[in-house]
Amino acid sequence: MTAVEFIEPLSHDEGVKNATDLFRATYGEEPAGVWAAPGRVNLIGEHTDYNAGLCLPIALPHRTFIALKPREDTKVRVVSDVDSENVTEADLDGLQAGGVEGWATYPVGVAWALREAGFDAVQGFDAAFSSCVPLGSGLSSSAAMTCSTALALDDVYGLGYGASDAGRVTLINAAIKSENDMAGASTGGLDQNASMRCTFGHALRLDCRPELSPLENVSQQEFDLDKYGLELLVLDTQAPHQLNDGQYAQRRATCEKAAEILGVANLRVVADSIAKSDDPFQALKETLDKLEDDTMKKRVRHVITEIARVNSFVRAFANGKIDEAGRLFNASHDSLAADYEVTVPELDIAVDVARANGAYGARMTGGGFGGSIIALVDKARGTRSHRRLLTASKRKVSTHLAPCRRSLRLPRAARLIAEADAKTRVGARP
Ligand code: ADP
Ligand code: MG
Repeated sequence: MTAVEFIEPLSHDEGVKNATDLFRATYGEEPAGVWAAPGRVNLIGEHTDYNAGLCLPIALPHRTFIALKPREDTKVRVVSDVDSENVTEADLDGLQAGGVEGWATYPVGVAWALREAGFDAVQGFDAAFSSCVPLGSGLSSSAAMTCSTALALDDVYGLGYGASDAGRVTLINAAIKSENDMAGASTGGLDQNASMRCTFGHALRLDCRPELSPLENVSQQEFDLDKYGLELLVLDTQAPHQLNDGQYAQRRATCEKAAEILGVANLRVVADSIAKSDDPFQALKETLDKLEDDTMKKRVRHVITEIARVNSFVRAFANGKIDEAGRLFNASHDSLAADYEVTVPELDIAVDVARANGAYGARMTGGGFGGSIIALVDKARGTRSHRRLLTASKRKVSTHLAPCRRSLRLPRAARLIAEADAKTRVGARP
């Protein structure tokens, strides 16, 4: 029997206690409060955010907790329970993009980005993080960290953006800028919007067109797995990330170049006009015929079909057409594998095994090049199919590939999002 390590979410009380204890042990005083933000799973709509497309994330019950105390000066000290012996220090005064190293870039970058945006009230801080979001698994531990930091700074420095959905967009922008400019990790906004704007029992249909206002760019779609007797399994393949940054930037550049050749601001414009045409297949073919480069054609085909799949998935799920929803998961993965070329053998094999073991559909989630897969399965057979999936994955991959050892079970998780959301909206003070 394969040993399966389930990653249980930290409860609110555990998270608050862990972060507070680490803060006390590190700095010898009390934090001003504890705040939290969740990781996320993107159901469908991958590599579409930076193409002004559509995505459909749900928040995980797994959250990153930050105990924080503001300082009178511009110094920042941060510690995390992944390496609790080491405190990283930085100074916001005169800090330039790229001026911090290691994981501390993420929280320091948020304070830097807020100050760059003109929030001069933001000064230094001491912070301690405790998290149960798996790191580097495509479940957005980085956004959980930047968003929890942004919520904490917003609260202690009285910026007033954390309490409303529209206000949070200001904090999301700081979190995005931290990742893009300070950490040098390209991100299109999906992760940060998911972490800050998902609500209980819903998937967030995020429309990334830049011209939309915060009130227009999200809608909450009911996502109740229990209603259909379903489970969503999340498996972290633990495959090492390969060339992630360079490859991501390349994909992004190819999409931007394609939009330029097609004479549009972004690929969403093309996706919308194809979706509205009488014969979308023919319209897609005509669009691709305008591009000479075969690789570019494949990338564009993924983006356009993936944007359409988000709407199709929302409709299928709302109407209880689970077979169709599963087929869309499969089509998304196959497109990411063949056309966008961001999967690795570990992801493809895990997806194959899930499909062969009774999943309605399975796909990689997150940016790819390693990370996690999700599989939609019947709850009644959940435990059995889960075990078979993990056993089979292990057997199949153990000879030359990393085993799928860690997984999250999401029906329980979906229920717990209520708790995550309620607590993260206001910040949770001990
Ligand atoms: P993902 O966001 O999918 O988990 P990323 O590569 O974007 O993957 O972000 C992972 C990185 O974020 C880690 O390598 C680390 O630098 C940083 N990070 C996230 N959470 C924590 C944490 N709790 N403690 C320390 N570093 C963290
Ligand atoms: Mg990330």
